[in-house]
Parts: sequence; C-alpha cells; structure tokens
Amino acid sequence: MPNNVIEDLDPFDIAVKQLEKAAKVINLDKQALEILREPMQILTVRLPIKMDSGKTQVFTGFRVHYNSARGPVKGGIRFHPQETISTVKALAAWMTWKTAIADIPLGGAKGGIICDPKKLSVGELERLSRGYVRSLGEYIGPEVDIPAPDVYTTPQIMAWMMDEYETIVRRSSPGVITGKPLEIGGSLGRGDATARGGMFVLREAAKRKNVDLSKARVAIQGFGNAGQFAIKLVKELFNSKVVAISDTKGGIFLESGIDYEKLLAHKKKTGSVIGFPGSKQITNEELLELPVDVLIPAAIENQLTEKNASKIKAKIILELANGPTTPGADEVFYKNGVVLLPDFLANSGGVIVSYFEWTQNVSGYYWDIDEVYSRLDKKLTLAAKEVLDASEKLKIDTRTAAYTISIKRVADAMKARGWY
Ligand code: GLU
Repeated sequence: MPNNVIEDLDPFDIAVKQLEKAAKVINLDKQALEILREPMQILTVRLPIKMDSGKTQVFTGFRVHYNSARGPVKGGIRFHPQETISTVKALAAWMTWKTAIADIPLGGAKGGIICDPKKLSVGELERLSRGYVRSLGEYIGPEVDIPAPDVYTTPQIMAWMMDEYETIVRRSSPGVITGKPLEIGGSLGRGDATARGGMFVLREAAKRKNVDLSKARVAIQGFGNAGQFAIKLVKELFNSKVVAISDTKGGIFLESGIDYEKLLAHKKKTGSVIGFPGSKQITNEELLELPVDVLIPAAIENQLTEKNASKIKAKIILELANGPTTPGADEVFYKNGVVLLPDFLANSGGVIVSYFEWTQNVSGYYWDIDEVYSRLDKKLTLAAKEVLDASEKLKIDTRTAAYTISIKRVADAMKARGWY
C-alpha cells in the first residue's frame, strides 16, 4: 500500500480482505467465497433495563452467527462502550477460522452489548446479562450457539446467563455457555487457557526460528485475561524475561524483568501497572517498538499498522488479542522476516478449552487438569505446525497460510452439506 493512502481500519473490511487474499491462493470456489463473505444470521436486540435509580435505560446488543457448517456456532460476548456491528461481524468471522484451525467441530459466532460495564452496579450488570439471554431466546443453546466470555465479561456473567437460560427452557443445560465458574460446570484450565494455548504456539515457532525462549526478552501489551496469564506463563514454562507490560493507562519497562506476583499485587493496590517499583513509564506505542525477541499484543484491535510495522523489532509476534494487526502491517512483517502468529491460531486456546468444557457438560463426565493441558498442547502444537508448514510451502505470510487451512475446512463442510 502506498504511504499516502490511509489504511482502512474497519474490522469487518479487514476480515473480508484477509479472506479474499487467502481464497485467491487456494483458488476457492466462487460460490463458497460468496457464502463466506457475510454472516449467515445477524440479530440486533434492544434491552430495556431497570437501573438502580428506578429509571429504564435501553441498551443495544448483537449476536452474529457467522457460519455453522462445521457445527453449532461458538464465540464470546463483549460488553464494550464502543461496540459496533462491524466489530462483532469481524470477530464472528475470526471465530469461524479459529474453530476450524483448531479442528474442533464448531462454527463461529460473536456477541456484544454497547455498554460501559465499569459504570454499572453489580445488580445492573446482572439484569443486563439476564435481559440479553431472554432476548436471544432460542438463538442460543448447546446445539445452536454456545456463548463464552470475552472483553469485560466474566465467569460470573456466564453463570447468570446460564441460570437465565435454564429458567427459560426449564431444564439443566450447562452446555449452553462456557467459561462458567467451576461450581456449575466450568472446566479446569479455562481461566488461563488463552495464554497457555498461545505458549504452545510460541514454543513451536521459537523452535523453527531458533529463538531460545529461556533467553528471550518479552513485551506484552495488555493486562486483561490474556496478558495477565501470559506474563506468568512465559516465565513459568520457558523462563523468559518480561521487560515490559501495559494496561489501558500506559506501560512500564524494567530491564531486569517484571515479577508477576509483585505486579499483580501492585495492580490490585493502585488500579494500574504504572508506578511499579523500579520501572520506567512508557506509552503503549513505545512498548510495541521495544527491542525484544517476542512481542505479545494482548489488548485490542488495530495496534500494529502500516505506520509502526517497520519499527517493530521483535522476531516473533504472538497475537493473543483479536485483530491487533492490519493487512498493511502483515505485509511489512512478512517482508522483514518477522514470524507473526495470527490471532485465530495464537489465541484459540480459549475456545479449545471452551470446547472441552462443553464436551464435559454434555457427557456429564469431568476431566482432571492434566487431561485438559495435554489435550490443549496436542491440538495447538499440531495446528501451529500445520500453519508454519503451509506458510513455508506456499511461500506466504502465516496469517494467509492459516486462512487457507481454515477456509478449506469450512468450505469442505459446506460442500458436504450441499450448500454449493
Ligand atoms: N472469546 C474467546 C475468543 O475470542 C473465547 C470464545 C469461546 O470460548 O467460545 O476466542
């Protein structure tokens, strides 16, 4: 892309662009592409919620079923003040590629409510969560669409939602939603599954790139579920050194390495990572450009763009966030030999363990933690190998390589069903 053109940052435009690029590589059937370019179903709901003040506030929510050819659709629910239908559509598309790359028998979906959960009381949050489920009705269900947590939604919210659904259908149905608390059918290992899965993908890439993870310096953008566990696990599993981390308020840098437990205590006390003893304050932008071996974007969309891609010094980028990199940046990374581990592979550990949770719920038999970890390792090591092999063989960037595998799997399922 020439420098004077401003990159298109609309998430769904990006998702379609990525799809079309990969479809060309494998010469995907035109009719299959036509189906895959848009979601199968979109539902918009208006939710009148009684606030603590006694007044009613109307919220808008979405649920997008992108493609169900490989099984019931699956994906998280985001509570976000800037939620848009374009973002939800893009995320639903990425869920479709994510379940396909992990080779689990599910399709892709995503949901969201436009709201600022930080400004809602616990009671308001509960009424909003239950209201959303009531409005979705039979649009969700263990054999239809299985939601899960995402940005600003929690196991507690999943618990309220499951309870509301069971009240509607008047039977036990824990498989309607995943990411639940353990007491009501959650799976062991779901809490850190996204970050842990990412570690298995990182291990595979490091092997190929001859990066010694025990000597690696790591920078992590974001301190949500993914970022928080990433800092803990890179140290625990590989003994890598995390020299920088950030949250929405800004970032910190500490050459000698950031201790996870101490940072967690600091964040709990002050509400931010900023001001961690001994660290230097940096911006989120500066964090991305640090001279590190591994960069882990674990926050939000559109962080690595044409503007900063050539300044990134990391050898490996592990995308634990959804959509952190734009197509323009992808091209720069590929040209510069940076190994980018694309979101729908790198962060698929979350949905894989969600799938394990759903399997346990519908079978009624619960696994121990070793079983969860070893099955997750096996699935992701294989998926990472397949993506890195395809990238080498087809001489294309890793994101497009991953797409070629996923879209072929979904297209084959559609073909078998006679959709085209
Ligand atoms: N929200 C997570 C994701 O984007 C998990 C989805 C799930 O567990 O269904 O992958």
